[in-house]
Amino acid sequence: MDRPACAHARWDFVTSPVIVVGGGLAGIAAALRLADAGIPVTLLESRKKLGGRATSFTDPRSGEVLDNCQHVVMGSCTNLLDLYDRLGVLGCIRWHPTIWWANPPHDPDAMSPGLFPAPAHFTGGFIRMKLLSIADKRGIARAMWRLIRLGQDGRARWRGRAFEAFLHETQQTADARRLFWEPIIISACNIGSQHCDAFHAMLVFQQGFLQDRWSPVMGLATVPLASLYDPAAAILEGSGGVVRTGVSALAFSYDGQRVVGVVTDEGMVEGSAVIAAIPPDRLSKVCSATMKAADGRLARLDEFRFSPIVGVHLFFSHPIMTLDHLVLPGRDTQWIFNKGTDSQGRTHLHAVISGADTWMELDEREIQRRVMADINWAIPPSRGLEPIAVRSVKEKRATFACTPGIDAIRPSATPDGLRGGIDNLFLCGDWCDTGWPATMEGAVRSGYLAAQGVQGRTGQRSAGIVRDVPAAWLSRLLGL
Ligand SMILES: Cc1cc2nc3c(=O)[nH]c(=O)nc-3n(C[C@H](O)[C@H](O)[C@H](O)COP(=O)(O)OP(=O)(O)OC[C@H]3O[C@@H](n4cnc5c(N)ncnc54)[C@H](O)[C@@H]3O)c2cc1C
Repeated sequence: MDRPACAHARWDFVTSPVIVVGGGLAGIAAALRLADAGIPVTLLESRKKLGGRATSFTDPRSGEVLDNCQHVVMGSCTNLLDLYDRLGVLGCIRWHPTIWWANPPHDPDAMSPGLFPAPAHFTGGFIRMKLLSIADKRGIARAMWRLIRLGQDGRARWRGRAFEAFLHETQQTADARRLFWEPIIISACNIGSQHCDAFHAMLVFQQGFLQDRWSPVMGLATVPLASLYDPAAAILEGSGGVVRTGVSALAFSYDGQRVVGVVTDEGMVEGSAVIAAIPPDRLSKVCSATMKAADGRLARLDEFRFSPIVGVHLFFSHPIMTLDHLVLPGRDTQWIFNKGTDSQGRTHLHAVISGADTWMELDEREIQRRVMADINWAIPPSRGLEPIAVRSVKEKRATFACTPGIDAIRPSATPDGLRGGIDNLFLCGDWCDTGWPATMEGAVRSGYLAAQGVQGRTGQRSAGIVRDVPAAWLSRLLGL
């Protein structure tokens, strides 16, 4: 419930807008929600464009606009889809109900929902998968049943333990781990099951696979990611807000009780409140020691660790794959996405390596060699073909490392009773406490929660976050 507005918190939004620092998904989400509520916003973003980590860049070598990495949205991402809807770009997402798993020399296995109701909707496709043995499938089915019966409360009891312990307890075979669990966990949580908090890994299966038929459907943008955010500036400016790109926050100006403004490389920006929508390491740099002492949410910013992702764009003179995407179980490259033909008539594939710690020191030639070995494995007809151009993007700090116990250091959007806090400072970003792993959905949720916090201080009621997709009747009946 919103806290009642107190006298000193009734800010004058006419002369002093809310400052949102950071124009990634969290910042955009918070700003749009406030604009919708009639609260003017000044959005500051250090780069020249919005989108943060989920965006695109112009490749200087080819002039092509490339995504920094393929970003996957799922049907379960209710808040992200709400944001796309507000931006008017929902139609730029193409939905893919079937997940294709490479299984050479056989054709890829198709995992698609069948006729049974959730949580049994994948049963048919799963039984037909040739990739997995009967023993593997029996173990996976046992674990899925356990995940259903655990429900949300049971999942909460696994907080702080590694998902590996769950795989051990449910007696998964080595191949089930290598070919099924690991590719899903690394792709969704950007860290392997040995190091991934079970609470987050379980969310991926409970909410992403078992809950209902729509949640696991995968969406891929049909346009460069950066263009999804093009409408944001016009919406914000249309409601009296200001978007300033290329402006970096250097420090928060704190008067001992409240944040009164943001010192930037272009001077001081004053505001009635600040929403910090930047990663924890950046936030730590702009907050003084006095602020950190005054607000418990800022005390553990330096404890976050990060996990890298490598995205590799490959261009060929010939078509390589017919499917839109392919999971590569058991390989370092977890996914290949078919990006179609670019403006120069080249076939464009995109390979993703999550949890890519051991890839950070590799040069582009070695990255190409390894990715091509994986592509040749998954798509045998590609053997002998070499890409005519390659562009790899290393994101060293792609996401926070979702390690056991991580939720203890993830702060809430609004100052809370337990850890105290600066009354007009709100936090958001995928690293904040949303219960989600580091995803676009987590970022948007946190942005909506921060906006809700601001609205609460003004006495306004806010819709807060968008509800999860309701569990299907059978899933609910079984305990999910
Ligand atoms: C390679 C890669 C692949 C990914 N794949 C997926 C995927 O498939 N699906 C998925 O859901 N998620 C994926 N993610 C995660 C997703 O991109 C993030 O969770 C999400 O974009 C985080 O948004 P954010 O707003 O919290 O943070 P950010 O995107 O980091 O936004 C923060 C913004 O603040 C700006 N900023 C920083 N410091 C300052 C300052 N001092 N002043 C002003 N501005 C500042 C930054 O420039 C940035 O724009 C992936 C991430 C990466 C890196």
